[in-house]
Amino acid sequence: MPAVASGLAAVEQEIARACRDARRPRDSVTLVAVSKTFDADAIRPVIAAGQQVFGENRVQEARAKWPELVAAHPDIRLHLIGPLQSNKARDAVALFDAIHSLDRESLCEALAKELARQPGRHPELFVQVNTGEEPQKAGVAPAEADAFLARCRDVYGFAVTGLMCIPPAGEAPGPHFALTAKIAARNGLPNLSMGMSADFATAIALGATHVRVGSAIFGGRPKPV
Ligand SMILES: *Cc1c(COP(=O)(O)O)cnc(C)c1O
Repeated sequence: MPAVASGLAAVEQEIARACRDARRPRDSVTLVAVSKTFDADAIRPVIAAGQQVFGENRVQEARAKWPELVAAHPDIRLHLIGPLQSNKARDAVALFDAIHSLDRESLCEALAKELARQPGRHPELFVQVNTGEEPQKAGVAPAEADAFLARCRDVYGFAVTGLMCIPPAGEAPGPHFALTAKIAARNGLPNLSMGMSADFATAIALGATHVRVGSAIFGGRPKPV
């Protein structure tokens, strides 16, 4: 078995266990296999092992490697998990089935334009919350999330389905997951994109519906991206 396939199998097992522990059905959690920095040759065995949902954090990188793979495997779904620049909204709408990083009004405007231009495309939208209020990190501040979600709905007509968070490095992730879940609950949002290789079991215990797992499947990346 290729290393990535055994990595995938191990992650699958751990997700199944976390779901059992949380008394949640396995199909309440979507594994987003984060393939950033890995090329098509590294990704193919993961597709061959049955994985259909993949995450990328850069539009340009995804554009370079995914169209060919998607053409060969039409059931693949791509999730954009990294920050999105407004000038890449066109490519993002064309390529991705979900965008986890909606976090500002200027991006809403750019996306609204592209969604109107590309009526066949309906990416699922998540709002990113900067739960640690880190200046270098994307996402709306927790205190601004309710108002931003209301504007997404009322001004732009977006059916946002969930929230995404990336807890600060070096902090216990649990409180950040719990805060994200609380904001989602009071806004009636069913989806929670939270949990990465190091903490997806904790995230599932706290309600994650989408876990974004890279290195536990694909192995270490040369440098943090
Ligand atoms: C890279 C990345 C991940 C996956 O990280 P791993 O620790 O390799 O699982 C998840 N979410 C985002 C936003 C990322 O950029």
